[in-house]
Amino acid sequence: MNLVLENRITEAQKEKISHIKTSHKLVSREFKSENTQVKINQVVIGSDRIVLIAGPCAVESHDQAMTIAKEVKKYGAVLFRGGAYKPRSSPYSFQGLEEEGLKILANIREKTGLGVVTEITSVSQADLMMKYVDAVQIGARNMQNFELLKCVGRMGMPVVLKRGLASTIQEWLMSAEYIMAEGNSHIILCERGIRTFEPYTRNTLDLSAIPVLRQLTHLPIMIDPSHATGIREKVSPMARAAVAAGADALMIEVHNDPDKALSDGAQSLYPDQFGQLARDIYVIAPVVGKQLDFDYLKKIEMINNLDAKESKTAAFIGEYGSYSHKASIGYFGDEIKPVSMKTFRDIFNAVRHGSCQYGVVPLENSLSGSIHENYDLLQEYNLKIIGEITIRVKHALITHENVLKSDIKRILGPPPALSQCRNYLDQYPDIEIVPVTSTSSAVRQIKDSGDRQSAAIGSAMAAGIFGMNILEESIEDNPRNYTRFAIIAKEKTDYKKVTKTSIIFSTGNKPGALFEVMKVFSEYEINLVKLESRPMLGKPWEYMFYADLEADIGHPDFEPVMDRLKEKSENLRVLGRY
Ligand code: PEP
Ligand code: MN
Repeated sequence: MNLVLENRITEAQKEKISHIKTSHKLVSREFKSENTQVKINQVVIGSDRIVLIAGPCAVESHDQAMTIAKEVKKYGAVLFRGGAYKPRSSPYSFQGLEEEGLKILANIREKTGLGVVTEITSVSQADLMMKYVDAVQIGARNMQNFELLKCVGRMGMPVVLKRGLASTIQEWLMSAEYIMAEGNSHIILCERGIRTFEPYTRNTLDLSAIPVLRQLTHLPIMIDPSHATGIREKVSPMARAAVAAGADALMIEVHNDPDKALSDGAQSLYPDQFGQLARDIYVIAPVVGKQLDFDYLKKIEMINNLDAKESKTAAFIGEYGSYSHKASIGYFGDEIKPVSMKTFRDIFNAVRHGSCQYGVVPLENSLSGSIHENYDLLQEYNLKIIGEITIRVKHALITHENVLKSDIKRILGPPPALSQCRNYLDQYPDIEIVPVTSTSSAVRQIKDSGDRQSAAIGSAMAAGIFGMNILEESIEDNPRNYTRFAIIAKEKTDYKKVTKTSIIFSTGNKPGALFEVMKVFSEYEINLVKLESRPMLGKPWEYMFYADLEADIGHPDFEPVMDRLKEKSENLRVLGRY
C-alpha cells in the first residue's frame, strides 16, 4: 500500500496539543479555530455551498448505478455514493459486488464527472479504494475499528466518518482523532442516527450534534437522514431540518426502483423525490447563509477550462468581509480569488480590460430595491451576465472579545445597514451612531483602533476575517433581507442550454408598444420574472426596459422568439444567459 507516512503528527503539532485540555486534540476548535474544508474530487465540503451526496445503498449493477447517478446529478447531487462492500446484519443478505462494484463507481465518475464515495470495511481493501474512488466511508459499525481508522489515516484520502450506532459525540471525535493523528485531516463527520428506545424510526437522528460539533471541532458536518429514519417519507423533513441546523452536506439514499433494491429500499427516495428535496434545500440554504449551487459542476468545468493566461479573479466592491465578498466566495468558492474594488465602475473596467476575469455586482435588495447604477453600467458596457447568486443580509453586532453590551458607547455602520437595524438601535438611545462607508470598514476600524467601547454592524464573515467577536446575531429589523448579485464576464460563445436570460430593450413612443413586446412572451409562454424601466443614458424621458425571463431566449433554438422581439422593440440586447 502507498501510505502517506511522512504526514504523521509533527513536533510543532505535539507542542500545540500539549496545552489542549480535552481528550480530542487535533480535531478540536482549540487546535484550529477556522473551519476545515474537505475536497472530494474538486467539490468542497465545509464551505458556504451545501453539498448533496446521493446514490443507492449498494451498487447492484452497472445499469442500476449509472441510471441513478444520472438522475441524482440532474437534480443537484455533486457526489455519488454506493456501497461495494456492505456490512450487513445478516450473513445471508447481499454483501455487495466488491471490486466489481468499485470498477462501476470509477466508471460512473468517468462518465458523469461525479466524484464517488464508498464504504471501506477492511484494511485489506485500502489499495483498491485508492485505485477506484475519491473518498472512503467508515460505516457506523466500524467507527471504533481502530486499525481501520489508522489505515484510512495513512491512506490520506477524504474520509466520511459515520457516528457509531451507540456512540457518544466524544467517542466519535476520538475516532476522528485516530485518523488525524496519522496525518489525514480530510475528515467529514457524518451523523446517521443513534440507537434509542424509540421504535418508530430505524434510529433517532441527533440533530443537536450539529451545534455541539460546531463548537467542539473544526471538521465539516454531514447528515445522513436515510439511515437515521429508515423510512422514505421521513427522509426529506429531516434533511430540510439538517440544513436549517447548519449541516454542510447531506448524504441521501436514492434508488430508481426501491421495491427491488437489494438493500435499504424502504428508506431510498425515488429520484424525483430527491429533486423535490433539492429544490427545498435551495430555498432553505440562504436563510442560514449558505447556497445550494445547481451549477457547481458546470462552474468547476468553466474554471478548469480557463486559459492559463486568464486571471482567475473576481472583482467585488468594498473590503474583504463585505457582503459582495461573501457573494463572490458563495458563487465561486476558493478557486477564483476575490479582488476588492472601490467603485462599481472599477469592477466593470477590470472585467472589460481582463485584469479580472469576473465581476460580482449587486442588482437588487429585497427591502431597498434595485441598485440602479449597476443596471446603467450593464447598459453601457458590453459585458454579459453569466450567473447570479442571492445572499441573505444578516447583520451582527461585532466587538472585541469579552466586551459587554453595557460597555458600548458607539455603533459604527454604513447608512443602509444602520437603517436596516433601526428598531434594534432605537432600543439604545444613549449610544452614538457613527456612519462609515461599509460594514467591513466598520469592523476593521474597531479592530485597528483596539476600541473596546465601540461596536460595528457587519456580517459574521467580517467578524471571522478580522478575528472579532459576535456579540449579537441577526439584529436587522426584517429577516427577509436578501441581495441578488449578477456575475459578469466578457462574452464567450457557448450555446449550452441555460434556464434564465436577462435582456434590455426600448420601445417606440407609441400606444401599446410595451404591450406588444409582452404579448410575444405570452404567446411563447415565457415567464417574465422581472421588468424594470430605466431612463436611457443621454436621452431624457426615453426609457429602456430590463427584463429577466425564465427561458433561454439567447439560444439558437429560440431564434423565432428573438426575431419577433426585434420586430416589436428597439435596441434589443441580451445581457446574459445563465
Ligand atoms: C450506508 O451508508 O449504506 C451504511 C451502511 O451506513 P451506516 O454505516 O450508517 O449504517
Ligand atoms: Mn444503506
